[in-house]
Amino acid sequence: MDSSSGLRVILIPNNSDNYCYYCYSENTRDGFFVDVCDADKAIQFAKDFGVTPKYVLTTHKHWDHSAGNEAMAKEFSGTDPIHIVGGSKDKVKACTWPVDDGDEITIGDIKIKCMHTPCHTKGHTCYYVTTESDITEDSVDRNKNDATGYAEVAGFSKCVFTGDTLFVGTVGKFFEGDAEQMHQNLERLHDLPSETQVFPGHEYTIDSLKFCQKMDTRNDALENLMEECETLQSEKYPTVPRSIQVVREVTIFCRYKDSKVQQLADTDSEVETLRAIREAKDKGTTLGVI
Ligand SMILES: [Zn+2]
Repeated sequence: MDSSSGLRVILIPNNSDNYCYYCYSENTRDGFFVDVCDADKAIQFAKDFGVTPKYVLTTHKHWDHSAGNEAMAKEFSGTDPIHIVGGSKDKVKACTWPVDDGDEITIGDIKIKCMHTPCHTKGHTCYYVTTESDITEDSVDRNKNDATGYAEVAGFSKCVFTGDTLFVGTVGKFFEGDAEQMHQNLERLHDLPSETQVFPGHEYTIDSLKFCQKMDTRNDALENLMEECETLQSEKYPTVPRSIQVVREVTIFCRYKDSKVQQLADTDSEVETLRAIREAKDKGTTLGVI
């Protein structure tokens, strides 16, 4: 692996379990923030790190993902003001660059593809990010950044910021949509290259995997990931990102094609299976054990 090319992401905790991210290209040093709630932290980060950010990508309108937008716009104004990107149907705070499905944004050698993923909110948007790189096999190196003290990860050339749509072990609540929409969102996310690193909006992994374990008691990938994540959390390290392949293997919500999971939901419909798992989790129960 060549650590001097590809993407590097710094994880900036916000609130009790939100993640704000700063992602940049190792080649050009061009980068962007994702989901700024606490602008003071993002501004301090930019100072410590010596960057003048030009973009904030917002996954959705909820305050814990967008409350910092106004202050970011104020701080980084002037002749080349910062762009605040957000889904056009979500009326994101201070948004200056509304995006629709399939829109692309280029930042240096970084390409960002906007994926409209409605369900948690009407305009929820995931951002699929790629860069030119000579990395032949994506991996994740986890370190602490010397300048900022935050955890950072590198070693990959593809990632997706999934906000409150897909987490490691769960999916977001269906506040403004239904299981059909979430099913479509998951199908599209699952279609990304399997090594794509998933960066969700919250550190929900341990609790989410516990729910998965209640229904899925014989899944080695799930057991192994739980063990690794418990160690990381005990050392105060983030458990994310994880590849889309791993997320698919461990997350019971993503397993709606599995006939054993469908049987628990008493249906052969993928959408109904997903709906049943979400309803069970919302009620604090499960559908049983596969
Ligand atoms: Zn939300």
